[in-house]
Amino acid sequence: MSFDVKLCFAIGRFCDIIHLMKIEIIKMRRKTTCLKLIDSNHAVLKVPKTLSQKKIDEFLESKRIWLRKNAEKLRERENFGAEFDFMKYIYFDGKPYVETSKISLDFEKLSEAKKKSVIKKFYLSHFGELEALAQELSAKTGLKFKDVKPTSSVRVWGSYSTQKVMKLNWKLLILPRNLAEYVVCHELCHSLHMNHQPKFWKAVEKICPDFKERKNQLSRFAFVLKNEI
Ligand SMILES: [Zn+2]
Repeated sequence: MSFDVKLCFAIGRFCDIIHLMKIEIIKMRRKTTCLKLIDSNHAVLKVPKTLSQKKIDEFLESKRIWLRKNAEKLRERENFGAEFDFMKYIYFDGKPYVETSKISLDFEKLSEAKKKSVIKKFYLSHFGELEALAQELSAKTGLKFKDVKPTSSVRVWGSYSTQKVMKLNWKLLILPRNLAEYVVCHELCHSLHMNHQPKFWKAVEKICPDFKERKNQLSRFAFVLKNEI
């Protein structure tokens, strides 16, 4: 059997291949088969211990198009993310704003950890811009919050508590403004619905009609969120 996304079979261990992608096959005690892309060059396939090689081949063959399509999507995102260098530049509104070497004396001489802390402090010193955005959108939509606080989460862009406290990730400053606006609108709509049911999305659509497009764009910036500055 031939694959244009070259496959390699190994049991329970990582396996390097000469071709485009490595597929790690893990035989384990489970009932179902699960294929997951880790990055554009690496996928993990978990299969039941007793599944035959023939069945594994068939399963992978059936997923070939899915694999290629999604690996391509991930590659596009990785390339997009590679254009950003958070240690070299401070970004605002999706664009380089100033070189990090200019934000602190002897920046280049600092340790990596210290550099990161200086960079984070710099962004946090601009958190007021996100507060102002929250105030502005709250006034515009009539959706309220009691307080807004920064978060450094690598998982979420924002949150909204039952106490009406909105947390906004300071990394929103890095994103194009319309995406930060979407996140704030999203959190404000949690003042109406503390869930992601259809009524919630209707409320989001009402104040942000092109939210689907913005949400889609936001997912391209997942590398910003995951970056541990
Ligand atoms: Zn939400």
